[in-house]
Amino acid sequence: MHVDVREVDVLVVGAGAAGLFAAIHAGRAGARVLALDGAKTLGAKILVAGGGRCNVTHHAVDEKAYAGSSPNAIKNVLRRYGVAETVKFFEAYGVELKREDTGKLFPTTDDARTILNALLQAARDAGVEIQHPKRVTAIEREADGGFIVRGDWGTVRTRRVVLATGGKALPKSGSDGAGYEFARALGHTVTDHVHRELVPLILPGTHPLRALSGLTLPATLSLRAASGKVLKEFTNSLLCTHFGLSGPCALDISRYWRAAVIEDSGAGLFANFIAGEREDTLDAKLLASRAANAPAFLREFVPERLARALCEIAAIDPATSLRQLTRDQRKALARAACGLPLSVEGDRGFTYAEVTMGGVPLSEVKLDTMESRVCPGLHLAGEILDVDGRIGGFNFQWAWATGFLAGGAAGDSAQIRLNP
Ligand SMILES: Cc1cc2nc3c(=O)[nH]c(=O)nc-3n(C[C@H](O)[C@H](O)[C@H](O)COP(=O)(O)OP(=O)(O)OC[C@H]3O[C@@H](n4cnc5c(N)ncnc54)[C@H](O)[C@@H]3O)c2cc1C
Repeated sequence: MHVDVREVDVLVVGAGAAGLFAAIHAGRAGARVLALDGAKTLGAKILVAGGGRCNVTHHAVDEKAYAGSSPNAIKNVLRRYGVAETVKFFEAYGVELKREDTGKLFPTTDDARTILNALLQAARDAGVEIQHPKRVTAIEREADGGFIVRGDWGTVRTRRVVLATGGKALPKSGSDGAGYEFARALGHTVTDHVHRELVPLILPGTHPLRALSGLTLPATLSLRAASGKVLKEFTNSLLCTHFGLSGPCALDISRYWRAAVIEDSGAGLFANFIAGEREDTLDAKLLASRAANAPAFLREFVPERLARALCEIAAIDPATSLRQLTRDQRKALARAACGLPLSVEGDRGFTYAEVTMGGVPLSEVKLDTMESRVCPGLHLAGEILDVDGRIGGFNFQWAWATGFLAGGAAGDSAQIRLNP
């Protein structure tokens, strides 16, 4: 029996942020583009991003906001498609972005659907065909340099593949790490560790901060080496929850905490709830204070509920007069407020993570086209690469930049083939 195998110029595997962007730019280059996604709901991650408002990018993007592959390589990619280009792209589809005090850019509609609609319209305008739910189960290289892409829906032959299957965060959105296997099968390596990033942290069951569930407050979380040296630090809003810590501050430090666990480096996580104070300066203030007791003193700096929890952590009876505190009790209180060791037990896993740390190293792709160095004709874009950004729109900017480069280059090369 003869079975027709459909042919396209560029097949994009995964139609998330990076895949849609790649498909649009391949289509704009004149290629016949098919984008396949295994998910029932297209763009699920775009829709939930930024609490449903979609934090599209950040007004100041540079390599310092990212980790994973070498900063130079990350910089090299980011400079080819910057924030101004992202803003212009969405503007052309009637989407105005506003900058908030944090530097994050959101659509003025405060609705992530606006972003997804713009991407889908741009894809239609570029002649891109999107099919879903169509999960890809195999990608094979052919002797002529093309590829065969398979699923239980059939087979497609293509000149170029853009692999944009994301990482493993929020697996119910369709990103379950299948792309790493495709990359490996085509000759790539994947970092030894592929972990969740931007993920809430779990504190022990009896930890007093868990009792503060719902409380949001500014804090600094730092990862300190056994020597005391600060290795990484974030100051931002921290959310106490029934399981431990969330909010931008906890999410941002989570990858560094995880890396320290993997390396078994002995580094630990510490919290400071009082901006501008250290244990010694707060101790001096405690000594000089005329407040009646510890909660009264702490209320000047932190919410009442936290003040009481800090007393509990320091094993101080809140009713004890401040003047009656021993030197050790004062120091324990200063430590709880400005250098609290956090005995983090784990994290909430990929289901609650925003991003994946690890993936295909950037050293294995050409940075101007995102084309594989080991498998010509294959381009990689987005979170599947070993790059992860902090909270603030940096991960989408990475998806836009790599999608633009991968899709544009894949589309261009198909054009060269068509018009030799
Ligand atoms: C809750 C949440 C909130 C976030 N908020 C923000 C934010 O506000 N700002 C920001 O910058 N970043 C945010 N992020 C991170 C951001 O969403 C991701 O970094 C970005 O979406 C990655 O884009 P991607 O296209 O590489 O991967 P994904 O968005 O994960 O897309 C991959 C696509 O590939 C498809 N796929 C996977 N395997 C297959 C297969 N075998 N066959 C076919 N299709 C397949 C999946 O169905 C999916 O649609 C958030 C993430 C989460 C989970």
